[in-house]
Amino acid sequence: MSAYSSRQAVVRSWLSENDVCAMVISSAANIRYLSGFTGEGHLVLFAGGGGLCTDGRYELQAAEESPELDCVLSSDGHLGAVIEYARAQGVERLGFEENVVTYAAYRRLEEEFGADALRATSSITQDARTVKDDDEIARIRRAAGIVDEALTGFLDQLQPGMTEKEAAFELDRRILTGGADAIAFQTILASGPSAACPHARPSSRVLREGDMVKVDVGGRVDGYCSDITRTVFLGDPDERFVEVYSLVYEAQGAALERVGPGAECRELDEIARQIISDGGYGDAFSHGLGHGVGLEVHEAPRLSARSTDTLAPGMVVTVEPGVYLEGWGGVRIEDLVLVTERGYEVLTGTPKWRDDCGR
Ligand code: ZN
Ligand code: ZN
Repeated sequence: MSAYSSRQAVVRSWLSENDVCAMVISSAANIRYLSGFTGEGHLVLFAGGGGLCTDGRYELQAAEESPELDCVLSSDGHLGAVIEYARAQGVERLGFEENVVTYAAYRRLEEEFGADALRATSSITQDARTVKDDDEIARIRRAAGIVDEALTGFLDQLQPGMTEKEAAFELDRRILTGGADAIAFQTILASGPSAACPHARPSSRVLREGDMVKVDVGGRVDGYCSDITRTVFLGDPDERFVEVYSLVYEAQGAALERVGPGAECRELDEIARQIISDGGYGDAFSHGLGHGVGLEVHEAPRLSARSTDTLAPGMVVTVEPGVYLEGWGGVRIEDLVLVTERGYEVLTGTPKWRDDCGR
């Protein structure tokens, strides 16, 4: 059985358990996960097979990437192809992804099949994607390794004088020439007070002596992402930076140590949050502790106060506490971690500012 057919089995067992003939999958990441297809369109799976509903631009690509699936083209667009294909297969009940399908597309399906024939699903494929196989882990590991090499060299040479945009561009260049297929998301590089914004975009601000610099970056290899944040200081840090950095560092280490099979994501968030609260900065940790990483930079499971997820071997998650103070700046430390049978393995290895203190 190929990796794709065993992944498709998860959807097929949902179909048979729920007496539904076919499922239309519309999320690009889910389509890639289930079929290997990287073009645009929808994937329709039914008990005995399936098809990619796409257009002429992707016909050759579909045949190459997913030779076992039908390639369905229609003059009526991707959704038109879904409808024609489902009709030709005699589909009476159709599952769809409620978090992905637009209202307009839903209305069209409702018109064609009737509301009673449609079954909303929320996260069948997303849940399956949380546990990575060896091949997926190898791609994430490679993406993380390429970024480590680029980021380590970049931080070693980071000096006042460049703008945030120039510095971010230089880091992206190193990641791409280092072998990544793409940058996984727009690089966050924020200096001085701009670092107070957790997801700041690089600006024309010039890096100065006495700035903290927060860098959050990822690479993509064969579809799979990595994600890492480092915060450094240009020159001699003031007391407050050392205080905040040490607190975030301690919170991250404490949460990391508890990563392992059976760990509750909510509790990991609580461990880090408690340390930061005890240090007097509880309100300044304004986001969850982390998230799953794979075909998407942010995917299940969620590490947050409201999460009901539990870690299992093969999951890849970030651990990234932060403290953000308006008018001052912010510190975040993020690592990418693989949950193993016995505990965890950190996949990101760029030295941290405190590990390397005094450089
Ligand atoms: Zn990140
Ligand atoms: Zn992240």
